[in-house]
Amino acid sequence: MRYISTRGDFEKSPKKSFTEILLGGLAPDGGLYLPETYPQVTRTELDAWRSMSYPELAFAVLSKFIDDIPADDLKTLIFKTYTADVYCNGRAGGNSEEITPVCWLRPGLGLLELSNGPTLAFKDMAMQLLGNLFEYVLEKRGEEINILGATSGDTGSAAEYAMRGKHGIRVFMLSPFGKMSPFQRAQMYSLQDENIFNIAVRGMFDDAQDIVKAVSNDHAFKTKYKIGAVNSINWARVAAQIVYYFKGYFAATQSNDEKVAFAVPSGNFGNICAGHIARMMGLPIGRLVLATNENDVLDEFFRTGIYRPRGTVETHATSSPSMDISKASNFERFVFDLVGRDPAVIREMWAKVDAGGSFDLSNTPYFARLGEFGFVSGRSCHADRLTVIRDAHEKFGVMIDTHTADGLKVAQENLSPDMPTLVLETALPAKFEDTIVEALGKRPDRPAGLQGIENLPQRVEVLDVDTEAVKQYIVAKLGMS
Ligand SMILES: *Cc1c(COP(=O)(O)O)cnc(C)c1O
Repeated sequence: MRYISTRGDFEKSPKKSFTEILLGGLAPDGGLYLPETYPQVTRTELDAWRSMSYPELAFAVLSKFIDDIPADDLKTLIFKTYTADVYCNGRAGGNSEEITPVCWLRPGLGLLELSNGPTLAFKDMAMQLLGNLFEYVLEKRGEEINILGATSGDTGSAAEYAMRGKHGIRVFMLSPFGKMSPFQRAQMYSLQDENIFNIAVRGMFDDAQDIVKAVSNDHAFKTKYKIGAVNSINWARVAAQIVYYFKGYFAATQSNDEKVAFAVPSGNFGNICAGHIARMMGLPIGRLVLATNENDVLDEFFRTGIYRPRGTVETHATSSPSMDISKASNFERFVFDLVGRDPAVIREMWAKVDAGGSFDLSNTPYFARLGEFGFVSGRSCHADRLTVIRDAHEKFGVMIDTHTADGLKVAQENLSPDMPTLVLETALPAKFEDTIVEALGKRPDRPAGLQGIENLPQRVEVLDVDTEAVKQYIVAKLGMS
């Protein structure tokens, strides 16, 4: 399996193998990596996969994308990742052996539980595997990496819980001082592992992100101190997420003649991109229902054909904060397929996007093809979220988080009589207590191990919004100069 860049500049971005792109981000020509062709699943394979456990299925699916790690080693890494003790947050009634069980709300409408990992959000599903893959590949090469990132919550904690205690890996995670919830702060800052460094900057999330960009643009520093990243465009994260579309499909059907719709609360388009790829592989996905919050750049595209990334001023802070994006970093992967994999078309479109502009496909044949790819979309706002959380609690007896509520709202607007719909549960309500209290007048339950984590000792360095100060901190911690 070779990987190509969506921008198609083979001089700058020659074809690579899986482990060659594992630790990197963007391709050198500015594009995103995708398999040269999508591996296909046969009917016989689907029949055989139907009864597999999660790790068996993950091995079967991922073996199609990863051919440069010996099969036995890959199997070990996957089985070590998807175990009941990693994906068992103690949720009452949760079937942790299943890793991603379906919770049926009523016949034909279910939640695919993806948030049973250590940080209570679906990002653990891919990030935990990434931790094990990184450690394995670095050890084989005798290399090390210092992961630098900025977070407003979910991504940073998922990365830290995936990388904690891993050999050859350190994590330097910037977060905005005083801007995260006490629970989110406790989740990250209470980690006592020696390879995890929390830095709270006296500013906003954007300030933290700007520092990360500034450090990464200092190529000499980046090389000398082996700075890397684990952002949402990482191909291995997308690949790992393909697996649970298969698992959900089998859970929702009796035979491989049936179709299933998936509703996906979306931000950077990573999660639903994995669904698109599962469909391209031949999984009978009838529909991909994309849900956004008030930051509706993607809903606008699927309704109008116009992709118009927003400025920072136009990007709202909402009660489903992990979907607050101004542009969707994985979107280019889907558009590449939509335009028949013509890199010249992508280059032209993203020349506009990268210059701060937009593109319009409404009068092109591509717009008509959106339906062929199974996509429909919708948006949700704070008032919708409250209503959906209340309804789910009253009618179905479940507490759902704000992001999953966005997915459920748009799913219910797009139900199809001839196939079941699975809403991807992207976080547990315990992560977003304030909005749950606003909707239901009571606090959500917390998984057993997380009671009172706010009282644990915390490890965090507070720094000014100052790139030099952050660099000096990293250098000091690495014991280098
Ligand atoms: C990251 C995240 C999302 C958005 O997922 P994308 O892959 O960026 O589309 C949705 N919900 C939650 C809770 C998240 O953490």
